[in-house]
Amino acid sequence: MDYKKFFSDSINSLKKSGEYRIFRNVERIAGSFPNAKFNDLVKKENIVVWCSNDYLGMGQHPFILEAIERSMKEFGAGSGGTRNISGTSNAHIVLENEISEIHEKESSLIFTSGYVANDASLSILGSKLNKCAFFSDEKNHASIINGIRNSKAEKFIFKHNNIKHLETLLKKVGIDRPKIIVFESVYSMDGDFTPIESLVKLAKKYNALTYLDEVHGVGLYGSHGGGVAQEQKIMHEIDIINGTLAKAFGLIGGYVSSSKIIIDFIRSYSPGFIFTTSIPPAIASGAIASIRYVKDNQQLRDKLKEKCLLIKEKLLAANIPFLKTKSHIIPIIIGDTKLCKKAADELLEKHKVYLQPINYPTVPRGKERLRITPSPLHTDQMIDELINALKFTWKKLKLKKAA
Ligand SMILES: *Cc1c(COP(=O)(O)O)cnc(C)c1O
Repeated sequence: MDYKKFFSDSINSLKKSGEYRIFRNVERIAGSFPNAKFNDLVKKENIVVWCSNDYLGMGQHPFILEAIERSMKEFGAGSGGTRNISGTSNAHIVLENEISEIHEKESSLIFTSGYVANDASLSILGSKLNKCAFFSDEKNHASIINGIRNSKAEKFIFKHNNIKHLETLLKKVGIDRPKIIVFESVYSMDGDFTPIESLVKLAKKYNALTYLDEVHGVGLYGSHGGGVAQEQKIMHEIDIINGTLAKAFGLIGGYVSSSKIIIDFIRSYSPGFIFTTSIPPAIASGAIASIRYVKDNQQLRDKLKEKCLLIKEKLLAANIPFLKTKSHIIPIIIGDTKLCKKAADELLEKHKVYLQPINYPTVPRGKERLRITPSPLHTDQMIDELINALKFTWKKLKLKKAA
């Protein structure tokens, strides 16, 4: 076996297709997000970040930074252990209570990331529930796909948000078998919302559990930032809600929120929860501060909505084609790997606009895109500069205009 050849051939094939990933070295500047420094060039350049998942700019908020600093000085850097062996602190417990409160659930459990929360929870549920069948939306995130795969349970993939197809699949499995319907509330690459109530109705009809990934919804939707399910007034009907502390809340870590007994089950059986060090108490303290701040500040959500509307209006006027979503995610489909990267390079190097090209396998081939994710901190002037940069780039690269 020529190992070296195998690895270099694998990498070369990515380079040939244009799918080889180049990480941009971006230095965020606390206090002036979404401004950042672009470190790839010899001299550091000021850029504006338009593709961050720090949707509300909480990653730099003084209220959160202070909470982290205070906690770090008091308790130190790391947690010192797994949750079971000396790694549980008051901050972890308060954070879990805070999460339960925004989702109006009995209990919650923190993981090291949203990815791990999905992977660990789904894999233990699917492997322990006898003859469990998963029903998973075809556009579900990689962490969901992996969790289901790792459970080794049977799975049925339903067409994206297609209730009819889901019901056809549910009918194939005996009513006595345990079933879990897994879906997201707002899909991160297309920015479309899920009609959650219709899925919940089906779940009840076929005695299935519902597992909802609210990673892109928490903090941004609902009266208290509880997510899209809260906005659609169906949150209390969802059995298990998954979320992250790393997107709208601006930190790191993930969680699931559910009934006392389901959370106790995952806490007691899931290797992905048990055998890993808990998040640092300072991060937990920062997350508590962030959730409390975001929960009570409806104006953050209103302002984000306002910015999104303005951008969509201006894109429309400029004939730049985008997916007409109702969410905070604004995808511009380019549909070609190399062209997508070229457009992104042009935007960054000529216009100091940072939009990361999104390629396969994050999106299907032929659906390569730029994905605008505004924040309440993007100014109207930044929006004008973004639109001008896009117009310029569209003209220069002769990209397809809106019909
Ligand atoms: C980002 C993401 C996750 C993972 O969350 P992290 O906290 O970043 O690990 C899970 N689900 C979806 C839909 C995501 O987009």
